[in-house]
Amino acid sequence: KVRVRFAPSPTGALHIGGVRTALYNYLFARQHDGDLIFRIEDTDSNRFVPGAEEYILESFKWLGIHFDEGVSFGGEYGPYRQSERREIYKKYVQILLDSDKAYIAFDTPEELDAKREEIANFQYDASTRSMMRNSLTLTKEEVDALIAEGKQYVVRFKIEPNEDVHVNDLIRGEVIINSSILDDKVLYKSADELPTYHLANIVDDHLMQVSHVIRGEEWLPSAPLHVLLYRAFGWEDTMPQFAHLPLLLKPEGNGKLSKRDGDRLGFPVFPLEWHDPKSGEISSGYRESGYLPEAVINFLALLGWNPGNDQEVMSMDELIQLFDLHRCSKSGAKFDYKKGIWFNHQYIQQKPDEEIAELFLPVLKEHGVEAPFEKVVTVVGMMKDRVSFIKELWDVCSFFFVAPTEYDEKTVKKRWKEDSAKCMTELAEVIAGIEDFSIEGQEKLLWTGLRKKNITQVIS
Ligand code: GLU
Repeated sequence: KVRVRFAPSPTGALHIGGVRTALYNYLFARQHDGDLIFRIEDTDSNRFVPGAEEYILESFKWLGIHFDEGVSFGGEYGPYRQSERREIYKKYVQILLDSDKAYIAFDTPEELDAKREEIANFQYDASTRSMMRNSLTLTKEEVDALIAEGKQYVVRFKIEPNEDVHVNDLIRGEVIINSSILDDKVLYKSADELPTYHLANIVDDHLMQVSHVIRGEEWLPSAPLHVLLYRAFGWEDTMPQFAHLPLLLKPEGNGKLSKRDGDRLGFPVFPLEWHDPKSGEISSGYRESGYLPEAVINFLALLGWNPGNDQEVMSMDELIQLFDLHRCSKSGAKFDYKKGIWFNHQYIQQKPDEEIAELFLPVLKEHGVEAPFEKVVTVVGMMKDRVSFIKELWDVCSFFFVAPTEYDEKTVKKRWKEDSAKCMTELAEVIAGIEDFSIEGQEKLLWTGLRKKNITQVIS
């Protein structure tokens, strides 16, 4: 059975790239009748940001991405918050220690820094571990004594050097990395009794029976380590399949998309507005900027994937039908935010006028306008093809609701004639009499009406 997961760390607002990862997982799960799990990877307590988890959940609710199990959804494989799974990880760390696949290391941060100074490009691995203070260089008695004394330690993964590690990636094909370039990654820290991301991630994916790991390209360098961990546990047969999604690039294509690009060019990089509790900084969100969730979904779906033809506007259901992991691109996807605006325009056209009118009501209210709903529906229906955002409707149709309060003095000076006011009043009477609103109908009535009143010169 297909089981996939989205596993964010609650370290702040969810970046739009993360939303795309979740979306692809969702599409893949739905189209295979599988399960999508929401797991919180909060083992790095230093980076924990209060409110982040709630923010992420609210984002998905707004976007219409539903989870089948996980934090706040329940399920049989819980708990789904890693900080609540300490005892599980401890057991698996012990298994690796007992089978000699991992070892205990006492090196303090100062000692590690000193080594880095001493040896250029120092890496804690098979070539250097014999110089360090760990359970491979100390006797069992020394190790036990240090632990009994309360010395803090970490558990490191013992990576055998000189081995080609194969990672089969559904998007990238076979990726081969030599194990010698990997360091003996820290898997567990006694200080907070928590595992690191790598250990927790593998143990959870295994225990939660995850079938496919679909995540951002930034995790590709970790994949060989993960393959080795599956092997160390003897879980190779049920190892999930990997798919690493292409990076989102700056609109210009030169490098990874960052929050600063959003500030620089004026588009949100977060789904919802985010108030950073540490810096107090407020970052704009797609929701508050007036994007429709359907437009955001459609826009994101096409950043790194396409259906193989030139179809662009696709509903969530169509995306579920058409999505294909194998059609994801290997190269980064330029974040063409103008396309996002285009999608918003498309979805405004697609939505029934009643729905758009409903969304426009708060804008009207902001301007102190209370109008009958039917009128708003009619006006919106006439004018919506001119806008890409609901709030822009005010600019193009405010005159339907409020009389103008100012005029262009220059024009008036140039054009105003003595009988202008009288002519305009008569013109208004003619217009009020129009019944046939086709272009021809209006034209005909207008001209005959005006001629009758002999006011054509004002109009011309
Ligand atoms: N917690 C990781 C993140 O924040 C998840 C990476 C993965 O999917 O393995 O992106």
